[in-house]
Amino acid sequence: MANKRILVTGGAGFIGSHLCQYLLKQGDEVLCLDNYFTGSKENVRHLIGHPGFELIRHDVVEPILCEVDQIYNLACPASPIHYQYNPIKTTKTSVIGALNMLGLAKRVKATVLQASTSEVYGDPFVHPQREDYWGNVNPNGLRSCYDEGKRCAEALFFDYHRQHGLNMKVARIFNTYGPRMHPQDGRVVSNFIMQALTGQNITVYGNGLQTRSFCYVDDLVEALVRLMNTPDDFVGPVNLGNPGEFTILELANKVIELTGSQSKIIYKPLPQDDPVQRRPDISLAKEKLNWSPFVQLEEGLKRTITYFKTLR
Ligand code: NAD
Ligand code: UDP
Ligand code: UDP
Repeated sequence: MANKRILVTGGAGFIGSHLCQYLLKQGDEVLCLDNYFTGSKENVRHLIGHPGFELIRHDVVEPILCEVDQIYNLACPASPIHYQYNPIKTTKTSVIGALNMLGLAKRVKATVLQASTSEVYGDPFVHPQREDYWGNVNPNGLRSCYDEGKRCAEALFFDYHRQHGLNMKVARIFNTYGPRMHPQDGRVVSNFIMQALTGQNITVYGNGLQTRSFCYVDDLVEALVRLMNTPDDFVGPVNLGNPGEFTILELANKVIELTGSQSKIIYKPLPQDDPVQRRPDISLAKEKLNWSPFVQLEEGLKRTITYFKTLR
């Protein structure tokens, strides 16, 4: 598995930076491509100067030529406030970005992995979500640029596979958290920890009874690398996440407890199309990747809180 040349788009982002680090550690050469919309050089500063590491400032909406063996396509803003900031650009990034990475993979005969999302299930009627569920997605709401962008990218991946015999993998990533999350990205884990550490009110949207499943970033990265290196006839889509399911209110209380904060919980309106429940069925990942998440919520939150303390 060593000594491959690997392109990671969105490599200076939260998940991407951990992935670059993992790949370098196992002896691969890494091309980290990013336009720094939500990522930053700070996330990969510790990797700059490593002989196997290269940084490329580039936007995936534009074509790119390079020679690589594998491509992890992670470039795309992932938090609702970031992907809704310029929704047209989000769709372009998802769809044209995927197309360019598929074109590149086709030309150089690389394997390409798409970072898809549990958002393709929308506000799901089937619980927990299995890969064969087609989802319940609003095609023209505030979240559609992201949800439909990712769904179209999946369609492109499967069409390149069927039409051109391209080697590809589709990972459906469920809510992932950990160090190097953007402190202002508005996602629930980063928001609650920042609020708790700065003594602000903890903002629970809606009644807080909606659920999510939270996967620690190290577990997710391990799964992405395992998926990339499965035999060519396994393409997914495969759910990657931690099946532990918590209400947002439980998360708020856990963060308050672990930070020892005096912050109080306040309630704010629920954003449009906010899914009521979400939990991955990870039987397929267990079977095909021989993988299960290892880090439980309390331990992962402790590590994330330690990171956020260093930012202050
Ligand atoms: P992130 O915002 O930290 O990372 C995304 C990276 O992509 C950033 O570095 C950003 O600057 C870069 N980027 C955005 N648009 C780009 C463009 N047009 N060209 C080049 N680079 C661009 O988010 P993340 O949480 O690390 O997410 C990484 C990937 O995983 C995304 O594709 C996201 O949709 C997917 N995902 C994440 C989660 C999660 O919970 N974190 C869940 C499901 C899917
Ligand atoms: N592409 C790229 N790098 C490459 C090869 C292709 O960025 O090394 C882009 C190309 O510009 C196109 C997309 O990938 O926009 C799809 O390429 P493909 O060859 O599949 O389709 P075509 O160029 O025929 O539209
Ligand atoms: N949420 C919340 N308070 C916040 C941020 C988010 O209650 O300060 C809720 C949000 O409404 C959603 C859940 O937490 O129900 C997860 O939100 P996030 O944006 O992290 O991810 P996604 O909705 O994309 O799963």
